[in-house]
Amino acid sequence: MKVIYADNNATTQVAPEVLEEMLPYFHDLYGNPSSMHSFGGQVAQELKEARGKVASLIGAAPDEILFTSCGTESDSTAIQAAIVSHPDKRHIITTRVEHPAVKNLCEYLEKNGYRVTFLPVDRQGRLNPEDLYKSLSKDTAIVSIMWANNETGVIFPIEEIAQIVTQSGVVFHTDAVQAVGKIPIDVQKISVDMLSLSGHKIHAPKGVGALYVRKGTKFTPFLIGGHQERGRRGGTENVASIIGLGKACELAGEHIEEENERVRYLRDKLENEILKLVPNAMVNGDREHRLPNTTSISFEYVEGEAILLMMNELGICASSGSACTSGSLEPSHVLRAMGVPFTAAHGSIRFSLSIYNTEEEIDFIIAKLPPIIERLRELSPYWDQSKTAAASQ
Ligand code: PLP
Repeated sequence: MKVIYADNNATTQVAPEVLEEMLPYFHDLYGNPSSMHSFGGQVAQELKEARGKVASLIGAAPDEILFTSCGTESDSTAIQAAIVSHPDKRHIITTRVEHPAVKNLCEYLEKNGYRVTFLPVDRQGRLNPEDLYKSLSKDTAIVSIMWANNETGVIFPIEEIAQIVTQSGVVFHTDAVQAVGKIPIDVQKISVDMLSLSGHKIHAPKGVGALYVRKGTKFTPFLIGGHQERGRRGGTENVASIIGLGKACELAGEHIEEENERVRYLRDKLENEILKLVPNAMVNGDREHRLPNTTSISFEYVEGEAILLMMNELGICASSGSACTSGSLEPSHVLRAMGVPFTAAHGSIRFSLSIYNTEEEIDFIIAKLPPIIERLRELSPYWDQSKTAAASQ
C-alpha cells in the first residue's frame, strides 16, 4: 500500500540530498572535531560550513548558532539560560498554545516558584499584543512566544511582539520550530534574542536542532561539560546530523518559494474541497496568517481518532487534535485555548504537507475522506441528535 504522508509537522522525510551528505561522516570521516590531528580537523571545518548554512537561512552570523539535540533542547536551553542569567527576576511570559516543549517547562517552573503568565488567544488562535504589553513587568526574565503553531499553523505577529518585548529590555525567545523553512525569517530585521529550530521538521534527521543566540544576549549553558560550541553546550557534536541540518537549511532556503506557492495551493485545494464536500466541517485558526502547509479541520460529531484509524487503513497519515490521556480523549490544549466547541475539537484532524506531496495524493484524500466522515456519522448518536435539533428549529 502506498503511504500518503500528510503529517509533516510531526516529522519529515530526510531529503535524499541530506542523507547523501551525511553518509561519509558515519564511516569514513568519523573524526572528533575537537581533535588536534587533521583527521578530526577536517570534520571541524565541515561543521563550520554547516553552521554557516544554518545561520544563513535565518539571517544570523555563524557564531550565533549553537547546535543542540532537538527543538525541545533548544527551547529548554533558551528559557533556562534566561532565568539563570537573571536570577533576580521570577516572572515568565508565554502563551496558552505553545508546544509542550515550552508549555510543560513553564508549568514546571511555575510549580517551582516562578510566576508565569500564559497569554490567551482568540477563537482564531490569534494573540493580542496589547495583552503582552500589559503583562510585562520589571520582574520578567523572559518572554517565550512561538512563531507559528504546530497544530493550526497560525503565525503570530512576531515582529510586533519582538519590538514590544525588546523595547522593554526583556529577553525574547521564539520557538520557530514550525516556521523555519516554511516562511522567510530574518533575525536582522526582527529583534528576537533567541530562536529555536529543529532538524526533523525540515527534512534533516531526528536528534539535531539549533538555537540562535543573538550576540550580546546573556547566556548560561544548559548542558555543562566540554568546551564544544564555544563553551555554550557541552557534548561531542552529532557530526553527521549537523552536516545534514546544514544541507537541509540550504535546501529549505531554495524551496521556500515552492512551499509558499505549490504546497500552499495543495493545502488550499485539500481544505476547500473538504469543506465543500463535508457538512459541519470547519477550519481551526486564522486562515490568513498561517503556514502554507498546515490545515486543522474539525468534523463535528465524530472522533478524530476514528477518522485517523480509517484513513490509516488507506495509507493516509495525518494527526488528530486530541490526546488520549488516561483513557479519556481530551481535546488538545491549543483547540481548548481557542474555545473550539467540544463537539468540534474532538473531531479535528491536522494535515501538514511538504514539498514531497503531489496533487494526485491530495485528490486521493479528497476522494476518500468524505465517505469516511459520512460512515462515522451514521454510527454517531450525536449526529442523529444534531439533525433532529436542526430540524426542530
Ligand atoms: N516546538 C514546536 C512548535 C514543535 O512543533 C515541536 C515538535 O513537534 C517542538 C518544539 C519539539 O521539537 P523536537 O521534536 O525536535 O524536540
